[in-house]
Amino acid sequence: MPFSAATLQSLQSIVGDQGFITDQSEIAPYLIESRRRFHGHCDILIKPATTKEVSEVLSLCNDEDIPVVPQGGNTGHCGGAVPNGGILLNLSRLNNIRNIDPLNATITVEAGCILQHIQEIAEKNNLLFPLSLAAEGSCQIGGNLSTNAGGVHVLRYGNMRELTLGLEVVMADGQIFKGLRGLRKDNTGYDLKQLFIGAEGTLGVITAATLRLFPKPKETVTCFVAGETVAHMMDGFAHLRDHFSGELNAFEIMPRFGLEMVCRHHKYLRDPFDEPYSWYGVVEVSATRTDTNLRAQLEEQLQILLERDILQNVLIAETLIQAENFWHLRENMSDAQKHEGASIKHDVSVPVSKIADFISETCHMLHNVMPDARLCPFGHLGDGNIHFNISQPVDMDKTAFIGHTRDFNEIVYDMVDKYDGSFSAEHGIGLIKTEEMSHFKGGAELDAMKKIKACLDPNAILNPKKVLPTD
Ligand SMILES: Cc1cc2nc3c(=O)[nH]c(=O)nc-3n(C[C@H](O)[C@H](O)[C@H](O)COP(=O)(O)OP(=O)(O)OC[C@H]3O[C@@H](n4cnc5c(N)ncnc54)[C@H](O)[C@@H]3O)c2cc1C
Repeated sequence: MPFSAATLQSLQSIVGDQGFITDQSEIAPYLIESRRRFHGHCDILIKPATTKEVSEVLSLCNDEDIPVVPQGGNTGHCGGAVPNGGILLNLSRLNNIRNIDPLNATITVEAGCILQHIQEIAEKNNLLFPLSLAAEGSCQIGGNLSTNAGGVHVLRYGNMRELTLGLEVVMADGQIFKGLRGLRKDNTGYDLKQLFIGAEGTLGVITAATLRLFPKPKETVTCFVAGETVAHMMDGFAHLRDHFSGELNAFEIMPRFGLEMVCRHHKYLRDPFDEPYSWYGVVEVSATRTDTNLRAQLEEQLQILLERDILQNVLIAETLIQAENFWHLRENMSDAQKHEGASIKHDVSVPVSKIADFISETCHMLHNVMPDARLCPFGHLGDGNIHFNISQPVDMDKTAFIGHTRDFNEIVYDMVDKYDGSFSAEHGIGLIKTEEMSHFKGGAELDAMKKIKACLDPNAILNPKKVLPTD
């Protein structure tokens, strides 16, 4: 899209030289999506340093019908931050911690703050910001909010929606919605912040947020467990959830194939057990008091699960490094899969009570179509979110395998529908699932979403072609 000299000059004068980039070699790294499936293009990269600058940029773009794609750390998996012309609005310079209020247990941060930095600031104040995911060293809180990120501690603390008390958002026309309230009770009309959380930059640009903090755990115990089937793992989860209640942080599962794959490609990691098992789990509990005897409690409960033949083997981490390695076995799953040829991935959720049947039936259906496909359903058993990944058969041609994407998507998403689940659990819609939006979210729900979009962004400048299917 050609920009007039006057527009270029206005943009440059709003954000200054540091925030105005037109050199394509400097822009190039921002255009590639984390999984390298999408390669975008744009003429200008804008990096505002204040909310006022964001407001002035959007006001100008709205007047001149210039598309704007907001971008955080660009770690999203759905192509949401990839521009297709117009302006790429990267929020990384808007990165101040505005306030921390330990008594109110809140922190107010700007959108470009890296997640890990927020966790560290909370910890220094003897508090916890619990959002945790493998990209935490590079993703930004604005991106986390815009994708309603989940991660490994949703079971205990919830996803970004539950972790957010207030937002500051620049609307498409440049108006600033000043909703940075650190209130647990605030019944003053519609809860607008929830519209912007998970909207993937299609309704406004998030510039700051007031987030909930929690007491910092004093003791954390991590264990690695093995079971025969997903149903057994479910029984183990249900037992531990009953016993530990709010102290159960995470219950993550992976199949044998996933574990083998990670150990094959991450040489410092090894199978914690001598015998092979069909399913593995990483379980974490933590307590904010030191007198709960957490480790002894976990040992006792795991012993019960072994005696009842619910679990086949268990290992409690003796050291911090061992605990970290248990987590690395789980967190390196996607990375390891890259080295196994092509894969087709799904980020889905079903009610926790239906996970075992869902996984079993979906595996059966997929193997009917391609018996040698290597299935790797893994993830957040405790909150119902399964990453249903499929690696190509060992000897198959990559392109031929990818040619089956549509068939596999249809099987997985139809099964998700059958089990009352969602075809998009935590990664969002972006560019890649708009077709499923039409198919599974038809009728009143999609109609309402389109009306909201038209109302808040009448010129459709914000992140065009993302999330909502175009008619
Ligand atoms: C190794 C790895 C592990 C991951 N694990 C998880 C996981 O466990 N759970 C999970 O939920 N996700 C996970 N993700 C996906 C990703 O990290 C998250 O979706 C993250 O929240 C995206 O943040 P970001 O800053 O990188 O956003 P981006 O990728 O830059 O953007 C994501 C979307 O948000 C929009 N956006 C960004 N900033 C703003 C803003 N300030 N205002 C409005 N819109 C904005 C963009 O336009 C885009 O649509 C993982 C990714 C990787 C690479």
